[in-house]
Amino acid sequence: MTTDTASAPLPLLVLGRGTDLHTERGVECPGDLPAASDPGLVERARAAKAALGDRVFVLGHHYQRDEVIEFADVTGDSFKLARDAAARPDAPYIVFCGVHFMAESADILTSDEQTVILPDLAAGCSMADMAAIAQVEDCWEQLEAAGVAGETIPVTYMNSSAAIKAFTGRHGGTICTSSNARTALDWAFEQVGGVGLDGSGTGKVLFLPDQHLGRNTAVRELGLSLDDCVVWDPHRPNGGLTRDELERARMILWRGHCSVHGRFSVDAVEAARREIPGVKVIVHPECQYDVVELADEVGSTEKIIQTIAAAPAGTSWVVGTELNLVRRLAQQFPEQRIAFLEKNVCYCSTMNRIDLPHLVWALESLVDGRVVNPIRVDPTVAAEARAALDRMLALPGKTHKD
Ligand code: SF4
Repeated sequence: MTTDTASAPLPLLVLGRGTDLHTERGVECPGDLPAASDPGLVERARAAKAALGDRVFVLGHHYQRDEVIEFADVTGDSFKLARDAAARPDAPYIVFCGVHFMAESADILTSDEQTVILPDLAAGCSMADMAAIAQVEDCWEQLEAAGVAGETIPVTYMNSSAAIKAFTGRHGGTICTSSNARTALDWAFEQVGGVGLDGSGTGKVLFLPDQHLGRNTAVRELGLSLDDCVVWDPHRPNGGLTRDELERARMILWRGHCSVHGRFSVDAVEAARREIPGVKVIVHPECQYDVVELADEVGSTEKIIQTIAAAPAGTSWVVGTELNLVRRLAQQFPEQRIAFLEKNVCYCSTMNRIDLPHLVWALESLVDGRVVNPIRVDPTVAAEARAALDRMLALPGKTHKD
């Protein structure tokens, strides 16, 4: 039996078959997307890149597939890549092999003369999508109605839409990364009367959109208690919180999480310890609090890479972060025993949307003089988001490159 995919309604779009802005972000690949089975794809990517020369700069996030990373001029986490793009003003085209919010940040931090391209517009981020701007504006109105907005400052993780970053800029807040979240929270609490660990402080942070990074940083690094943290659920009236809970809270955590890191479990950490003698467990701070508490090390993707690179040969690691990176680490450091933390967790599905056919399509289109899938942030939104990003860049202390 054959299925007419052109006429039958599909729960998800087949890549390259039309546009539907009501699901995900729309998928549009005008022209021929090369077949994944084309044996000439690697050669086509090489030829297109060579033809474009310095006019194109290809960025590859650590969670991208090997077939894409092979063509990246630089690799890194989202913030490092955005800065790398800004450091190449001579390149008119930035092809961002990552997800949508990363391409938006790169567009905000690069010049108007540069164009950022996302090879597949369906490469979104489930965490970023958990905080829609209308929901966040509604939350702020509720905080105002409860009389606590004046003592609350937003701190927003890089993994968020440009609109949420702009909201943060409008309300005097800052952006943070997984490596400078503590510095950002210190700064934010200083703006609203200090962290007040003796119970004297009343200032609050609205942390968007990853509840786990917010909780892990506030409790493990700033010394706040779990009781100081409440979770704002955008799908419940008033976030599911009473006025009293809001008044007592120090951290108002948005109910968002990473669909990859949020799945690592305490059971998996305990199983790894049982099965691999002497193993060290290293996880990303987007993991749940109980998992992070149990791990030996916690850190951003850059810190995970640096820690394993610096470890003595013969040491054993189980790693709780995206599978593409863990597999690459295992290949790069064969002198270590490196395993993935959880059997029931798979790749980040949206990161994996960017594959070699989409990269070839984007590059060959540029060679033909066509710009496909440009990411352009509205200038007003970009200016407000830039204010929040600039506050992060001005934070004291720790570097922001990892
Ligand atoms: S790994 Fe998590 S945070 Fe990163 S893009 Fe995928 S869903 Fe988003």
